[in-house]
Amino acid sequence: MAELNNQVLDKKKLLLAAGVLHSARAFIGPDVLHVDLTNLCNFNCLACWCRSPLLQEKAMPEWERKLTLSFDLLKGVFDDLSSMGGLRSVKLVGGGEPFMHPDILNIVAYIKKIDKAIEIDINTNFSFVNEKTAEELIQLGVDSFTVSLWAGTPEVYAAVHPNQTQDTFHKIRRVLKYISDRKKELNRLAPRVIIHDVIFNLNYQDAEEMVKFGLAVGADAIQFVPMDPFKGKTDGLLLDQSQRRALLETLSRIDKRYDPAGLRYTDVTASMIELSDFRGFIRRLERLDTNTGAYDEKAVDEIPCYVGWLFARIMATGNVVPCCKGHRMPLGNIHKNRFRDIWFSSLYNEFRRNGLSLHKGHPYFSRIGNDAVEKTGCYNCDNLWQNIPVHAKVADIKKKSPLFVNFCHFLLKGLFPK
Ligand code: SF4
Ligand code: SF4
Repeated sequence: MAELNNQVLDKKKLLLAAGVLHSARAFIGPDVLHVDLTNLCNFNCLACWCRSPLLQEKAMPEWERKLTLSFDLLKGVFDDLSSMGGLRSVKLVGGGEPFMHPDILNIVAYIKKIDKAIEIDINTNFSFVNEKTAEELIQLGVDSFTVSLWAGTPEVYAAVHPNQTQDTFHKIRRVLKYISDRKKELNRLAPRVIIHDVIFNLNYQDAEEMVKFGLAVGADAIQFVPMDPFKGKTDGLLLDQSQRRALLETLSRIDKRYDPAGLRYTDVTASMIELSDFRGFIRRLERLDTNTGAYDEKAVDEIPCYVGWLFARIMATGNVVPCCKGHRMPLGNIHKNRFRDIWFSSLYNEFRRNGLSLHKGHPYFSRIGNDAVEKTGCYNCDNLWQNIPVHAKVADIKKKSPLFVNFCHFLLKGLFPK
C-alpha cells in the first residue's frame, strides 16, 4: 500500500513538474481546491471583505449574498477532480458561512467517499456547530476546522462581530473544548482545530489572550494574520505606527516561549500549542505599510506564481478563479462548463504563462485583490505558502540541471504546442 501511495505521489510530482516546465499547460488537476459553498452568512465581521458594515456601498450586493452552490453541481466538480487526479486537499470556505449550506454534511461525505485521503478543512465562524454536529463531523472524518475568531476575550469578540454577543464566544469555547475532549477519548488527532485570528486595531491588544484561549480549549494551532484592508472602507482598522510597535512588543514576549523549529508555544504549565508561521507574522508586521496595508511586496516580487498548477477556488457564483485573491479574475464558471474543461482551457493556460513570466505590477494582475489598489492585490498574496516551496524546488532543479530543464521545456512545447 505504501509503495502504491509513493508511486501515485511520484506520478503527481512528475505531471506537476511537466506542467511548470511546459510553462502554460497543466497535465493534472489542482493540489488544493477552495469552494465557497454559499454566500449566506449570519455574521457581519468588521474586517470582512463582503459584509463589514464599514464597506457600505462596496459590500456584497443583496442578490449575491443569497447564492449557494447546489450539491448536484458540486458532485460534478468532485467527479471531475477525481478523474483528473492530483487533489490532496479541499477547503470549504466562503463568501459566506459554510455551515449555512443545507447539504454541508452530505458534501463532506461525498468527498470522503471519493477518496478518504482527501483532506477536508472547513473554514467557519463556528457559530452553528453544536456538540451533535461536532460529533457527526468527527465521524465523517473531517480533517480540520479553521475557526475564524479574531478575539481572545468575549468583550473583544463582541466588539469585532457587531451582530453577535459575548454568548456566541462562550458557546464556541464550549464546543471547541468538547471536540478536544472527544479527540482524547477516541485517541484521534483529527479534526485539528486551527484558530484564525485576523489582527487589526480593535483586537491587537488581545494577542496574548488569543494564545491563552487556544490553550484553554485544546486547539491545535493559532494562525495570526494581518488584516487586508478594503481601500477607503476598512482601512480605518489598520494598525497605526504606535499600535504596530505595541503589538510587536507583545509578540516578542510570546516569542520568548516559542520554539521556531517545532512551531510550538509552551506556557508556564507546559501546555503547548502550534503558532503557525508565527515568525512569518512578525516579519509581515515589521514590513507592514501602515498606509496601504501591503506586507508581502518583496516576497511576491522575488518569485513567479505557480498557483495555476496547484490551486483553484470556486466561488458561490460558480466562477472558477485562480487564487485566494482572484475573485475579480474568473477563468470560467461551473454553471456553464465542466470544471475539467475550465482547468484545461486556454484562458487558464494564459494565467499560468503570465504567472511565470510577468511582474506582479503588470496590468494583467490588476484584477487580483479587492478594488485594484496598486499595492494590495498580488502584494498581499494568500498563496505564498504554495509558491515559496515550489519555487525553491524549481530553482534547485534549474541550478543543478539547466540543460535538462531547457530540453524538457522545448520537448513539451513541441509535443503540446497550445
Ligand atoms: S463570518 Fe466570514 S463571511 Fe461572514 S461576515 Fe464574518 S468574515 Fe464575512
Ligand atoms: S495573489 Fe498574485 S502572486 Fe499570489 S497567487 Fe494570486 S496571482 Fe499569484
